[in-house]
Amino acid sequence: MSTPANRVSTFGTTIFTEINVLAQHYNALNLGQGKPDYDTPPDIIADLVKTLQAGRYNQYAPGPGTSALRQAVADHAARFYGLEIDPAQGVVVTAGATEGIIAAVLGLTDPGDEVILLEPYYDSYQPSVIMANAVPVCVPLHPPTWTIDPDELRRAFSKKTRALILNTPHNPTGRVFTREELTLIAELCIEHDVTVIVDEVYEHLLYDDAIHIPIASLPGMFERTVTISSAGKLFSATGWKIGWVYGHPDLVEGVARAHQFITFAVHHPTQETVAHALNLPDSYYEGFKAMYTRKRDILLSALSKGGLPCLTPQGTYFVLADFTKVFQGSPLEFTHYLIKEIGVACIPPGTLYTPEHVHIGSNYVRFAFCKSDEMLQQVEQRLQKLKSLA
Ligand code: PMP
Ligand code: GLN
Repeated sequence: MSTPANRVSTFGTTIFTEINVLAQHYNALNLGQGKPDYDTPPDIIADLVKTLQAGRYNQYAPGPGTSALRQAVADHAARFYGLEIDPAQGVVVTAGATEGIIAAVLGLTDPGDEVILLEPYYDSYQPSVIMANAVPVCVPLHPPTWTIDPDELRRAFSKKTRALILNTPHNPTGRVFTREELTLIAELCIEHDVTVIVDEVYEHLLYDDAIHIPIASLPGMFERTVTISSAGKLFSATGWKIGWVYGHPDLVEGVARAHQFITFAVHHPTQETVAHALNLPDSYYEGFKAMYTRKRDILLSALSKGGLPCLTPQGTYFVLADFTKVFQGSPLEFTHYLIKEIGVACIPPGTLYTPEHVHIGSNYVRFAFCKSDEMLQQVEQRLQKLKSLA
């Protein structure tokens, strides 16, 4: 009988899908998957409709992406970070950041190479490394501050290390890596001749005085970094799946070669609209931050009233909350309890760790606050029950 390949034998249904099914079944307020429950801004949708009807964009796009979007990605990097990107050779457009990640891993590592991951990680990193027949080497971020132990990170580097996957602002902890942390990572990558694959999909989701520093902007790093981002979060359009990878042309070349035979090209009209949206004035980006600061604050108040302490997120739309004052059991048990008894869904972080490190996150669950203010306020009411039941 035919069976799935060994390569995928350890991959289960993603935790996001699993929790969506449960949340729907119990009619819980779903703060699980990072998926806005509001729509893309109407002007951006109107631009897409116009583009679809223009009659020029409904056949294959150029494989590396449309020239308008590649130019917009380069302009965005110059405008926000002062980075000089070659739109012709230094950008490739992918089907969301997810394709960018696997195309980067496939295009920049060989079988048997080691790839360092910081845990908890975004759920596609480890499968991407495994599908490339490379070897994940995991270094945990330690609660409650979710910081790296410099010695643990140093020990993770070996002669076989080829790449390190970094995510800042960081899902699920809400941390934004500091210049000091990024400098340590950069120094080790330079010393060991390692490529950095950095996932910056939450680059504009920053709170208070947090500053996003692209690791590609640190001395000696541009030529060893590929940077990945996506339109999904920034334009509340996670369904569009338009992402991009940029960096030094020699590295982007590797990503582009893999991309040619994964998707070849991605949705053409949406690329034109995303190009237009990336060029929106600063007021769009400021309004976006203000909206999420308000949502974060509603959720923080809800968690505090529910007896769930957390590190205040500096970025992203996620927060990891400690449930041990109100519940005894595993994160998965708490998640089931919260969905069934309280009517709120969250994500247990188990699948965001390798089995040997899963205990590090065993007091925490993740909540997403990319939800309507009304829903977050209802969550606040429901979580108050938690304290009284504890
Ligand atoms: N990286 C991180 C850290 C994410 O949280 C997500 C999902 N929102 C992705 C990548 C995937 O992005 P996309 O939907 O553009 O594929
Ligand atoms: N990035 C989103 C999250 O972390 C959802 C990703 C997914 O469903 N694959 O919740």
